[in-house]
This record gives sequence, structure tokens and C-alpha cells, in this order.
Amino acid sequence: MKKKLLLRLIIGYIIFGILGFTAVAIFTAQYNENYVRENTAASLHREASLIASSYASGNFSSQLTLNEFQRQLSAISTYLDADIYVVDNTGTILVSSLETSYLNNQKKISDFDILDFSSGYYTLSDFYNNYSESMLCVYSPITYNYRASSYVLLCMPDAHIMEMKSGLLDGAYLTLLIVYALSLLILLICFLSVHLPVKKLIRAAMHYNHGDYDYPLAIHQNDELGYIAASFNYMRHELGTLEEDQRKFVSNVSHDFRSPLTSIKGYAQAMADGTIPPQMQERYLQVIIFETERLEKLTQELLELNQYGSRGYLLDITSFDLNQTIKMTVQTFEQISLEKQIRFDLILTGNELYVDADISKIQLVLQNLIDNAIKFSHTSSAIKIETTVKNDKVFISVKDHGIGIPKESIGKIWERFYKTDISRGKDKKGTGLGLAIVKEILNAHHENINVISTIEVGTEFIFTLPLSKSR
Ligand code: ATP
Ligand code: MG
Repeated sequence: MKKKLLLRLIIGYIIFGILGFTAVAIFTAQYNENYVRENTAASLHREASLIASSYASGNFSSQLTLNEFQRQLSAISTYLDADIYVVDNTGTILVSSLETSYLNNQKKISDFDILDFSSGYYTLSDFYNNYSESMLCVYSPITYNYRASSYVLLCMPDAHIMEMKSGLLDGAYLTLLIVYALSLLILLICFLSVHLPVKKLIRAAMHYNHGDYDYPLAIHQNDELGYIAASFNYMRHELGTLEEDQRKFVSNVSHDFRSPLTSIKGYAQAMADGTIPPQMQERYLQVIIFETERLEKLTQELLELNQYGSRGYLLDITSFDLNQTIKMTVQTFEQISLEKQIRFDLILTGNELYVDADISKIQLVLQNLIDNAIKFSHTSSAIKIETTVKNDKVFISVKDHGIGIPKESIGKIWERFYKTDISRGKDKKGTGLGLAIVKEILNAHHENINVISTIEVGTEFIFTLPLSKSR
């Protein structure tokens, strides 16, 4: 899987090379051959016409001796690299660039027919068995007294055409070779800027698959791959913390379940085997009830927390009187506040103060904050609950005079199972889940909560709720 991309690039490059060279070998070669042959034929034809008009007609008009004419033809033949014949209708060679003997022998080309040459622009043949190789021949008629009495024939070996063609083809091959080499450069750039980062991404993904979220992914490119790498890094960080959180959560839950269970089991066993005498059992049964209540509370809180997933919680938003809710909630703490001699000061805005929220969840928030305030208050102190309205928000503050929260713990109190060291002595029943639930509930409402605390002086929690729109 890893090597596939590189392999495809290399195979693609090789196929590109093979196709390129095949195309040049077939199409360019054919094109060049036709082009060179037709061009050569055209220039030979021009020469033939020139000879026909200026020399041959001169010969027939007796201004030129046959010998002079033959010498001139020889010179032109060398220059053109072609054999020149002047023949009559019957194929008798009147004069040729080749041999002077023709002049006397009047050699005749057997089967000569001028129609053989006039069918196209040029012909390719062995010129009536006179040559052992293929010849490119063109002709031009010599007109005398408005009659074509004889013809000038120019024959050049076709091998010359092939030579010129292969010269041109070499140029094409060279150009292709340069293009091919340059495309290797493109392949190299692709390799460096695409393949290597992709390989890094794959390697990192494999590490993250195995839970190794510490594996670093260093791709610093300002392009799509760089963006993917940044997303990858973000994801691994999130996954890493998520896994760590989960591990911590499970170990905390197990711990919080185990300690009450151990003490329940220990006392129950001691009672069963008679280690604890019947007259003492009453006291230890109270401990067992206390521990069972703790377990019940823990289970309830875990179930509550479980409702708030990453997909959010469906709230039952209604408009209700917050003042009334605060008063009712405070009342539920009457007994315990009496025991601790704690006074509640309620400073509420207006007679009624309507907000839009999920009433049962806001009750839970208030319960948790007031429960904490009472638990961590000094005896004979006051707890102030105040509501203020600013713009379209209600600020609810729960302020106690108690042990306070150390600075280093302020950020951690929202974590599940977190308890400050000083609070442990004050409250044995607490699980450290209350504020985590409070935070989740307010998050689900898209509202905020803040805490201000001074150690040994007191703590104030302030959260917001939206003023009711319908009132
Ligand atoms: P639970 O709410 O599950 O009964 P808990 O009260 O210990 O347990 P949280 O409500 O989450 O848990 O509070 C977390 C911790 O924050 C507490 O254990 C305590 O250390 C600290 N804390 C919370 N409220 C106060 C407060 N008003 N004064 C001092 N410390 C506080
Ligand atoms: Mg609490």
C-alpha cells in the first residue's frame, strides 16, 4: 500500500517514455519521410523545368552543341546529386549527365512510356531496371514549336531521402530525450512534495492506529498536504487527551466504587463471623448505610454525566421564575443549614425573574453549588445568593464564607472526580462529580460559570442564564 503511489508514478513515467518514443518512431518518421520526399521532388521538378526551358530548347534551336549541353548537365547533376536524362517519346536517350557514350550509342530505354511519369508528382522505381535501388524521378517536357518532342528526367536515389529523414528524426529524438529528462525533474518534484509527505502521513496514521499519539508529524507545507497534516496533528492531540481522560475516568470510577464496597464487605463479614458483637452492630450498620448511600449517589451522578455527550444534550427549555426556583432549592437545605448554623441571604432582583432554561437541570446546578457552599462553609457563617440582570443576561452568584479553593486547584475543580486536599477532610461523601455536572449543564445551555475564591475566606460561583424572551 505504501509503495503503490511511487510505483504508479514510476510506471506512469516509463509508459510516458515508451509512448513518446513509439509515437516519434511511427508518426514523426512517416511525416518526415513524406515531407522530405515531397520537398525534394518539388525542387527537382523546378530544376527539370529550368533545364527543359533554358538548355534543352536551346539545344534544339542549335544555339548549343550537344557536347556543351552534356557538360552542363553533368555539372548540374553533381550539384543536385541526381542523374539527368533527356529522352524522346520512344525512350531513346538523347543526352544524359552520365556517359558521353550515349551521345553516339543513342541508347534506348526499353518499355519507356512517358505516361508512367506523368501520373503523379514524382515516381519511385528502379527506372526500367537501370538502377539496383529505388529512385525518385521527376520529369518536365521540352516543348519545341509548341510540341513536347522530348523530356528532361531527373532521378535521385531514394536513399538520399531516407538519410535526410533520419537526420531530421535524430533531432526529434533528441528533443524528446530532453523533454523526457525534464519530466524526470517534475517527477522528482512530485516525489519530494507529494510522495514523501504522504508517506509521513501514512506512517503517522499507523502509529496513531496503535494508540501511539506521541509520534510527531512534522510536515510544514503551505498547501493542501500541510493542511491535512495540521488536521492530523490536531486530531492526534484530541485523541490523546480523550484516551487519557477516559483512562483517568475509569480508574477514578473503579476506585470510588471499590473503597465503599471494601468497607461494606469488611463490616458485613465481621458481623457474620461474630468479630463484631451484636451490641456493636448498630454502629457499623450505620457505616454500611452511609457507604451504600455514597454508592447510590455516585451511580446517580455518573448516569447524569453520561447524558452529556459530544453531541450535546437535548434540553427541555421553558420560561420559569428563577427567584422561585432559588427559594425552593434553598428550602431543601433547611435541615442541614440549621445543623451547621448557616444563614442564607437571598438578594433577588424583582419579585419574579423569568429565564429561558431547563428548570430541572438548573435546579441541579443550584443544588450542587449550594451543597458545596454548605459543605465547605465555616459553621455559623452566611451564604449569599444574589441575582443581577445585565443586558439580556441574569447573573446568579452563590457566595460562601468557608475554606476556599487553593489557587493551583481553581482550574481543576471542573474535572471529574477532582477534590482539593483541604476539602477531603470536610466532606467524605463527595465524589468530585458535582461541578463537572454543573459545567456540562451550563455548556449545554451555552452559558458560562466562573469562580472567585480566597483560601480561608470564601468562594463565589457566578453563572449566567438568558432572560426570558417571552416575558
Ligand atoms: P459531589 O459534588 O460529587 O458531592 P464534591 O462536592 O467534592 O462532590 P464538586 O462539587 O465537583 O465535588 O467539587 C469539586 C471540589 O471543588 C470539591 O471537592 C472541593 O474541593 C472544591 N470546591 C467546590 N466548591 C467549593 C466551595 N464552595 N468551597 C471550597 N471548595 C470547593
Ligand atoms: Mg459538590
